[in-house]
Amino acid sequence: MKVDFRQVTPGGVELSYSASADDLDLMADGFDFPEPIEVELSVSKSGDEIIFQGFTSTVVEMECSRCLEQFRQPVSSKLQFVVQLLDDNSKHETGDDDFVVLPKTTQEYDLSMRVREVIILELPLKALCSESCRGLCSMCGVNLNESECDCAPDKTDERWDSLRQLFED
Ligand SMILES: [Zn+2]
Ligand SMILES: [Zn+2]
Repeated sequence: MKVDFRQVTPGGVELSYSASADDLDLMADGFDFPEPIEVELSVSKSGDEIIFQGFTSTVVEMECSRCLEQFRQPVSSKLQFVVQLLDDNSKHETGDDDFVVLPKTTQEYDLSMRVREVIILELPLKALCSESCRGLCSMCGVNLNESECDCAPDKTDERWDSLRQLFED
């Protein structure tokens, strides 16, 4: 996933890429990437700066932490950074990930690491197939999104609770 600087004209150029997670060495514990990772980027030049703006998107597959079903969820993230090409040969550390300084002789920029990082940042901390996932019954293990079971402990009817409250007060 490389941007060839010779392709970049002052007016800018639109680039798109598609790569598998394997191609990008994208790996994350507990997550699969069943679809390609897509990148849409517009790259333009301003003086010695090359400006990258776009986004990356894919689909991630994981196991719901409540019902243990596999599910898929789209993830996407903005890509926005600047590469500055300077005469001097040393590679500068700017301390800012979104501002990269490279020697003027640099011909291309490999997006892979950046794409990998932004996707990993977008991965959910808590995998839930839906906010309202009812999970598994702790007694019989049935998936409560799909069926009911009889082992739920008896709930006292709440209406009686409030009546009882009245009498107690
Ligand atoms: Zn679930
Ligand atoms: Zn049950």
